[in-house]
Amino acid sequence: MTETFDVILIGAGSIGLPAAVMLSQAGLKVLVLDQFASPGQGSNKKAIGGIRATHSDKAKITLGNRSIELFAGWKDMTGDEIEWYRGGYSFVAYHEKDASSLQTLVKEQQGLGLNIVWLDKRQLLEKVPDLNSVNLLGGTFSPDDGSASPLLMAASCYKQAIKHGCVFHFRENVTGLIIKSSKIEGVVTSTNEYHAPIVINAAGAWAGSVAEMAGINIPVVPDSHEAAITEPVARFFDPMIVDIHPDENSSNCYFYQHWTGQIFFCITPSPNIWGFNTSETSQFLPLASRRIIQLMPRLKNIRVRRTWRGLYPMTPDGSPILGTSRECSGFIQAAGMCGQGFMLGPAMGEMITRMVLDELTPMDHEILDILSPYREFSGHEKLK
Ligand SMILES: Cc1cc2nc3c(=O)[nH]c(=O)nc-3n(C[C@H](O)[C@H](O)[C@H](O)COP(=O)(O)OP(=O)(O)OC[C@H]3O[C@@H](n4cnc5c(N)ncnc54)[C@H](O)[C@@H]3O)c2cc1C
Repeated sequence: MTETFDVILIGAGSIGLPAAVMLSQAGLKVLVLDQFASPGQGSNKKAIGGIRATHSDKAKITLGNRSIELFAGWKDMTGDEIEWYRGGYSFVAYHEKDASSLQTLVKEQQGLGLNIVWLDKRQLLEKVPDLNSVNLLGGTFSPDDGSASPLLMAASCYKQAIKHGCVFHFRENVTGLIIKSSKIEGVVTSTNEYHAPIVINAAGAWAGSVAEMAGINIPVVPDSHEAAITEPVARFFDPMIVDIHPDENSSNCYFYQHWTGQIFFCITPSPNIWGFNTSETSQFLPLASRRIIQLMPRLKNIRVRRTWRGLYPMTPDGSPILGTSRECSGFIQAAGMCGQGFMLGPAMGEMITRMVLDELTPMDHEILDILSPYREFSGHEKLK
C-alpha cells in the first residue's frame, strides 16, 4: 500500500533536518527521505560550524539573525547540547580596497538591524591580539555571531523530529516525482512510492537533479571546498576571522578557535573546483596554512589533525533559492545554500513551515522575493 503524508522532505541535511523538526512540531505528518545511511551525511557534516548574520542582503541578514536566536536557545528548548558559542565574527582588512568596501557595508548592515561595528587597528588588536599587526587597517566585529556543531545539531534535529512523529527513511534515493496536471502528488524512490500534496527539495548539492525530475531548472552546482582541524591548544582568540582579500590561489579564507581549543580553517579555492569529487587534495593544506599563518603568525606551531573536503551547493549570485515552483504546484525549492546552509538552516526551517501552513508574514514575502527561484541571479553576495 502506498503511504500518504502531509509533506515529503527530500534531504536530511542542514535544511531538511530543522525543517523536519518544525513541520512535525506544527502537527504535520512528515516523511524525510535521504540517499545516505543517517542524518546529516551530505554537506552538513562537512561544515565547520560558523554561524553569522553578517551578510550583505536583507534576506540573509534577517534569516541569519533569526537562526542565531534559535541556535542560542536550542539547548534550553530541547535539552540537547549543540556546542553553541557566541564568539563573534571579524572580517579583517589589510588592503585599502577591502577596508573601504567593508566600511561601506557595515553602514548598510547597521541599517538592516545587524549588530556590527568597524574597529580600527588598535581596537581590533585589543580584541584579537595575535592578528598580524603589519599593514592591518582594521576590521568589522559582530559580537552576536558564533558557532555550533553541525554533527550535534543534526543528531538533535533527528531526535526532536522523531519525538514529534516525523518518519525518516535512509538509504532511499528519490528517483522520480509523481506529478499530475502540474501538481505534485508524491515521489518515487529506489524501493517505494509515497504520496503527499507538498514535496520539498532540500537536496543540497544534488538539488538540481531533483528539480530536473519535474522538468525545472534551478542553478545549483556543487562547488568543492576543503577544511582542516588542528590539535587543541589553550584558547587565545574568540571570533571567526575572515579575510576576503583574493590571492592567486584562493578568494578568501576563514578560521576560528573552537571553545575546546582546536582551530578550524578553510579557504575558497580560486578558480573554484566544480563537481562532486570529495577526495582531499594535496594542494589545500600548504595553501590554507600559509594564508592563516600570514594572518596570525602564532598559528604556525599548531599541528593539523585532519583535513576533509565537501560541497557547497552554489548558486550564481551566492544566495539561496527558496520558493514554490510555478510549473508544479506544491513543489518547494529550498536549495542552493552555498557556504551558509548550516547557519541558515533553523530560520529556513521556520520559513518553510510558514510556507506550508500558509502563514507567511509581510517580511517573509520580502525574503521570498529576494530568494525567488525566478530571480535574475545577477546580484552578488559580497560576503559569500
Ligand atoms: C568545507 C566546508 C565548510 C563549510 N562551513 C560552513 C560553515 O561554517 N557554516 C555554514 O553555515 N555552512 C558551511 N558550509 C556549507 C554547508 O555545509 C552547506 O551550505 C549546507 O550543508 C547545505 O545544506 P543542505 O541541506 O542544502 O545540503 P546537505 O546538508 O548536503 O543535505 C542534502 C541532503 O539531500 C540528500 N539527497 C540529495 N539528493 C537526494 C535524492 N535524490 N534522494 C534522497 N536524498 C537526497 C543528500 O544525501 C543530503 O543528505 C561548509 C561547507 C563545506 C564543504
